[in-house]
Amino acid sequence: MHAIGVDVGGTKIAAGVISPEGEILSEVRYPTANVRETLLSTIAEAITDARGGHDVGGVCLAVPGFILASENKILSAANLEAIEGIPLKEELGGRTGLQVTVENDANAAAWGEFRFGAGEDVEDLILITLGTGVGGGVVSRGALLRGARGTGGELGHITVQPAGPRCGCGNRGCLEALASGTAIARRAQKVATEQPDSLLGRLAEERAPLGEDVLELARRGDKAAVRVLREAGTWLGVGLATFVNIFDPEVIAIGGGASAAGDLVLEPARRELRLQSHSPSRDLVQIREATLGAKIRDVGRGHPRP
Ligand SMILES: [Zn+2]
Repeated sequence: MHAIGVDVGGTKIAAGVISPEGEILSEVRYPTANVRETLLSTIAEAITDARGGHDVGGVCLAVPGFILASENKILSAANLEAIEGIPLKEELGGRTGLQVTVENDANAAAWGEFRFGAGEDVEDLILITLGTGVGGGVVSRGALLRGARGTGGELGHITVQPAGPRCGCGNRGCLEALASGTAIARRAQKVATEQPDSLLGRLAEERAPLGEDVLELARRGDKAAVRVLREAGTWLGVGLATFVNIFDPEVIAIGGGASAAGDLVLEPARRELRLQSHSPSRDLVQIREATLGAKIRDVGRGHPRP
């Protein structure tokens, strides 16, 4: 039996019919509306449109933010307030006639990497996505870790520096506040003022550096930019060491836009991971690039709508 997967993002809603083997049989993409009723009707329309004539057993919505999977609703979503608190299972089940479940988007991505991506040959996988924020998901012994209410696996919000920068979640020093693309851009601004003669410093005199600027300058050998990425990688490593000590994963898959920095971030992360985690877990764990990102970005060959 096929299933429909729906990625509800801050800017787009992508829906597709997926076969049990992971093949995407149809895809549609709609722009996201941050108004409750329009958002619901758009998601329902995307599901119906993607379904077409396929025989479908159910729908899984992958949504951003803190979710209460046991009640199929979202508690808070920083980039999509309109979706907060809606009983999605009932609202969308009624409109589409299909069984609907709700999952955190990073948890859903971790499950995807486990079934069809970087971890398809193992039973224990952690996915970390480095983007605007830091998302995470844990698959342990072949099961997705969700916790008692389905809010588990928020790996981006473990504290790695108690007095560190403020995180979007309200806490200080979360992994997300130190290793996300947003954190890299913020830190770059600070380092630029300390090293005004660096390429990064000169750029910052014209405009605020973005994460991709830092990457570009680091590739050109600018020491200030390299330092920013090394620091972010070191904090990432602190987080990874904690995850390795707790979960003993076989694979850590790294995805998201900021993962494009590659070894500029991952080498310091590996070093810190080795220092702070324990044998034999640290000796056996493999860090791999997440493989489904391109497929996710490919979604959208369907019917774009205004
Ligand atoms: Zn946080």
